[in-house]
Amino acid sequence: MAEFDYDLFVIGAGSGGVRAARMAAGFGARVAVAEDRYMGGTCVNVGCVPKKLYVYASEFGKAFQDARGFGWDSGPTPFDWATLRDNKKTEISRLNAIYRNLLGGVDVDIIDGRAGIVDAHTVIVSGQHYSAGKILIATGGWPHIPDFPGSEYAVTSNEIFDLEQFPQRLVIVGGGYIAVEFAGIFNGLGAQVTQLYRGPLFLRGFDEDIRTHAAQEIPKTGVDLRFDINVASIQPGSHGLQITLTNGDSLEADTVLYATGRKPNLQGLGLENVNARLTPAGMVEVDEHFRTAEPSVFAVGDVIGGMELTPVALAEGMAFAREQFGNAEQQVDYDFIPTAVFCQPNIGTVGFTEQQARDKFGDIRLYKSSFKPMKHTISGRDEKTFMKLIVDDASDRVVGVHMMGPDAGEIMQGIAIALRAGATKAIFDSTIGIHPTAAEEFVTMREPWTAD
Ligand code: FAD
Ligand code: NDP
Repeated sequence: MAEFDYDLFVIGAGSGGVRAARMAAGFGARVAVAEDRYMGGTCVNVGCVPKKLYVYASEFGKAFQDARGFGWDSGPTPFDWATLRDNKKTEISRLNAIYRNLLGGVDVDIIDGRAGIVDAHTVIVSGQHYSAGKILIATGGWPHIPDFPGSEYAVTSNEIFDLEQFPQRLVIVGGGYIAVEFAGIFNGLGAQVTQLYRGPLFLRGFDEDIRTHAAQEIPKTGVDLRFDINVASIQPGSHGLQITLTNGDSLEADTVLYATGRKPNLQGLGLENVNARLTPAGMVEVDEHFRTAEPSVFAVGDVIGGMELTPVALAEGMAFAREQFGNAEQQVDYDFIPTAVFCQPNIGTVGFTEQQARDKFGDIRLYKSSFKPMKHTISGRDEKTFMKLIVDDASDRVVGVHMMGPDAGEIMQGIAIALRAGATKAIFDSTIGIHPTAAEEFVTMREPWTAD
């Protein structure tokens, strides 16, 4: 008789948890996964997937306008929120079922309910105890709304996808990924969007030129983007929500979306029942093998912080499963992880920002290009693409690539492979472009940029 009910008990069926469970089961482990909300976690239900579907929806309005210069008369194009929302729901339900089947297909037991850790080898779900050789915390994150008068009237990314009514007037607070993406989505769908950021320039952590370029481009799309401002209070009024700003101005809105970051989802998890510790930022602390201070308890994904992205959670889940159940030592390589902000147009980025590269390498060369995309020579749209290469002068290696322009997310995936392979600027230069594309600009930028 086995010592434990399971070899592995995974808490959370999101990106990291599902991947770890499936792989561990594939290596022959007896695995259970507890999930209290939705199969597939944040990404599938209230993150990447519905977000990208809404981004697609939001791009049609622009395409209808741009089509006119090409001879198409698209006529009036009313948008129906309920159709989008309900088609999205159908697609997500399909994905939920696929995730359930994937786990069932490799004999992973799915236990519906919120799990709590009882001790180093025991988990409780709905009053039932389960013992396991190893426990994996993959509980992800949860949106955080700061405390202020009227904060209860704000919604988060968890609710925004399924609003009953389309918000004709939307105020978005925050200047990170979610705020910028949703400003683009709702602006594209026809809402009047005001985005408020508390500092002088949003998208902290991104390359300075990209931040500045985005601050110039996004208002051109119709978003009322305001810096150095925050919400002081929200209260219900006769014509919607009354928002008082920190400078004394006021706004009216149908919905206020708070996109002010996420915190690890640890409520009721029972972390205090084992030796696990938190980092100063409140994340679950793990070593490079994803082990907490309790030898049988591990954690992966958003709950451990770092780059909170689905492919990172997947990589961590895989590395954990390979190492613990596949007898293959594997660590995640966090260098040159590409990422995109799906605003309009996209931001795509990989590697060091200019400032980080200067700090790390000293002498660097910069290559920059800003141009009107070919499509907009006829569409008439006032939109500029921006591209930037950062090169370590000593080795000639390209160490940072940043772009804001159509399909930057798609383009950056291939560039990331080149950077991980150690491509030098000479290799970029000797690569023949694909004409006519925007991406070919990355292999034709010859003259280093100088500040004159
Ligand atoms: P999650 O996917 O959050 O999964 C955690 C799961 O654990 C959840 O299903 C939760 O219900 C469950 N759970 C929590 N506690 C318990 C418990 N005690 N018992 C049982 N179950 C529990 N990333 C990208 O790479 N690209 C994108 O375009 C992108 N867009 C995003 C858009 C939005 C609006 C948001 C919010 C996030 C986005 N992300 C994106 C980030 C991405 O969703 C996360 O990085 C990813 O989901 C993290 O995976 P995870 O496994 O760590 O956690
Ligand atoms: P981010 O951490 O990216 O941004 C949070 C924003 O809120 C920052 O601009 C921050 O300002 C601001 N903020 C924080 N606290 C306050 C406050 N009290 N008042 C006003 N503003 C405040 O978080 P998000 O919520 O946008 O997204 C969470 C994570 O999800 C992202 O970091 C990313 O990892 C992931 N994600 C990835 C996506 C993708 O890959 N395309 C898309 C969406 C999410 P400041 O900078 O000044 O601190």
